[in-house]
Amino acid sequence: MSLSKSAPRNWFPSQEFYTEELCTRCGICCGSSDGHPCERLRLLKDGTYTCEVYQDRLGKHRTVDGEEFICVPIRFVIEHNGGYADCRYVQEIQRLREQMGQDASELGRLRKP
Ligand code: SF4
Ligand code: SF4
Repeated sequence: MSLSKSAPRNWFPSQEFYTEELCTRCGICCGSSDGHPCERLRLLKDGTYTCEVYQDRLGKHRTVDGEEFICVPIRFVIEHNGGYADCRYVQEIQRLREQMGQDASELGRLRKP
């Protein structure tokens, strides 16, 4: 068996990083800014968003216009697509990467879900 000579993968945080406190509840990951939000997304009086089925959110859902999609953990979105530019988790990962001298250019490329 030989060791891989490929470059190390850029750093991503472990699950413990994804605390609810860090999330600003902007709702961008649920479509709050694109005109086609998830039908389960609710706007609160303080201007933040919440998911009305948060504990059971993962899996098949529909947008308010009836389009089906799969709700996945935000960690999955960030690690596969780089996440949304305005997502606080993404911004924090970018900051930590920069501190470590790592490239963060693949992060935050998504504007909308
Ligand atoms: S089901 Fe998923 S996409 Fe829909 S509001 Fe809840 S967390 Fe957002
Ligand atoms: S885009 Fe990021 S900060 Fe905004 S609600 Fe989703 S997880 Fe939270």
